[in-house]
Amino acid sequence: MNQITRRQLLTGLSATALTGMALGQQPQTKPQPLDLKDFEPKSMLHVKETLIEKARFPVIDIHTHLAFTNNSGSQPKSVARVKPDEILAAMNRKNVRTMVNLTGGYGPALEECLAMWHKPHPDRFVVFTEPWFSQIVEPKYPQFQAEQIERAKKLGAKGIKVLKTLGLYLRENVTTGPLVKIDDRRFDPMWDAAGAHKLPIAIHTSDPEAFFLPIDRFNERFEELNAHPNWSFRGQDFPSNRELHEARLRVIARHPKTHFILLHVGNAEDLNWVSEWLDKYPNTSVEIGARIGELGRQPRAARKFFDKYQDRILFGTDAVPQGVETPQQIFGDKLYEIYYRFLETEDEYFDYAPARVPPQGRWRIYGLGLPEKILRKVYHANAEQILGLRS
Ligand SMILES: [Zn+2]
Repeated sequence: MNQITRRQLLTGLSATALTGMALGQQPQTKPQPLDLKDFEPKSMLHVKETLIEKARFPVIDIHTHLAFTNNSGSQPKSVARVKPDEILAAMNRKNVRTMVNLTGGYGPALEECLAMWHKPHPDRFVVFTEPWFSQIVEPKYPQFQAEQIERAKKLGAKGIKVLKTLGLYLRENVTTGPLVKIDDRRFDPMWDAAGAHKLPIAIHTSDPEAFFLPIDRFNERFEELNAHPNWSFRGQDFPSNRELHEARLRVIARHPKTHFILLHVGNAEDLNWVSEWLDKYPNTSVEIGARIGELGRQPRAARKFFDKYQDRILFGTDAVPQGVETPQQIFGDKLYEIYYRFLETEDEYFDYAPARVPPQGRWRIYGLGLPEKILRKVYHANAEQILGLRS
């Protein structure tokens, strides 16, 4: 540095310091402590911000939770989180033609759920059934469960949802004893019945890879796990993420006539691995719910993935009306606008969830800018085919 520049620099610095003091600010002389939870950096990027209020094509949201089943009484009961009329206006605003309530329940709860959602609005709400897991203790469970699938089909259910309960929570005595494996033979009649009655299985297996690691400073989802330590599957008798997926793959291989929708992109952190599954098993497709945070931080790999598997990717949000714990899933206009922005635009570095702080890891995402041909398939055509609906 030459003399003149250094002098100019010194003059400049002192002028800045004086201006600061004149405005009543104390010049910072040492590092200030700041809790991670209070850190909310605002991006200084001047980049395009596109608001997509309505999807380019009508949407089938194949992954929603409009109701759940209360199993604490003598009979399972369907509990609606909202009434249909309370969300139809938002659906119309966002061009969501149909919402699929995956948690439609079983036994009498399924009938209640169908009566509330599907019967009055057959084009707007579709209902899936679920395995009656608490019956697993009964010796005739395998046959009983297969018959329940046939009954669900007759009642009007359009598929079967298998929660991550299978593999991570369901135990031999329902809540106690060893964990029941995903490829346990007692479910074989159920998987077969699903294929025979053309009901796709929407299956959520395992969870984000970070949920299987220690909750420490190296964990990319530290804040989320620290706030919800019970979401961690580290230790105890939990299988590894890999073991869970491999068990599911054995089920898929054993039941080639049954269609499996792998929820949450199967394992969104590892698109190469998911690509291997899709290549090997034609009876599979994937759904993107609650994983645009993963897809959108690897936009080049994700874009290639959408190109290659454009006939096998389904739109879903995992939307939960009145949810609070998971901002990335709260049903509402904002949620859909983010998904549409991700799929339709090439916007850069934006939030993947309507939240103060990115809730599934501190990063932002990049839009894929999908062409119309792919958008049409992902928004509704692929789902129509799998669900047996007509456009
Ligand atoms: Zn879900």
